[in-house]
Amino acid sequence: MDTDRKRIRIAIDGPSGAGKSTIAKAVAEKLAIDYIDTGAMYRAIGYKMLTEGIDVSEEKKIKEMLTRTTIDFSGGNIILDGTVINDRIRTPEVSKMASSSSALPEVRSKLVALQRKIASGKSVIMDGRDIGTNVITDAECKFFMTASKEERAERRYKELAEKGVQTSYAQVLEDIKKRDENDSTRRLNPLAMADDAVLLDTTGMKVDDVVNAILEEVRRKWPY
Ligand code: C5P
Repeated sequence: MDTDRKRIRIAIDGPSGAGKSTIAKAVAEKLAIDYIDTGAMYRAIGYKMLTEGIDVSEEKKIKEMLTRTTIDFSGGNIILDGTVINDRIRTPEVSKMASSSSALPEVRSKLVALQRKIASGKSVIMDGRDIGTNVITDAECKFFMTASKEERAERRYKELAEKGVQTSYAQVLEDIKKRDENDSTRRLNPLAMADDAVLLDTTGMKVDDVVNAILEEVRRKWPY
């Protein structure tokens, strides 16, 4: 059988807190393929801007910073300039900076090129905001995963509380609304559902049920 037909690229897009990464990780494990969290890449850039004190309005500094930035994934870790930064990018400050800096053309073009390179020639499941509409427009399977704002805020709040981050549910809900607004109204590659994506509303659904719904669809389109 030709190897190309055996390759599968799965795109999962959707707003913050929809459960994309939990689900994508589980699906990747079941199918034994790589999982790429593109949000973590935007977070890595946001994190570097915060640590270097660069503001989102400082275009020149951002361009220069990008020329000396490397981002890699290895063994489930995200590596920025050679350092594992997994937990450091999961704070509310980094979320905000990632959301605003992801609207910048120079940031998007660097990361989209890197994502396309990672996805070329192998099977992957990639999650983000613009995977099915921009990064891998010819992905074999596309999903748009969403859930009510309240449930997404609840999930994020629990996640942050478990990590010991001090915040309130009301604050998390407010942040989610702001990020939804930023992500879906930005000019470049806004959050949108691809015409050929399958819509998955996970409100009230268990993780296993969502994973199974995806696997069923994948097997239908990719019987290898
Ligand atoms: O998914 P996550 O919340 O980690 O993403 C962080 C931010 O990165 C999002 O708010 C969004 O602005 C940006 N992002 C993006 N395009 C992607 C993935 C994430 O603009 N493909």
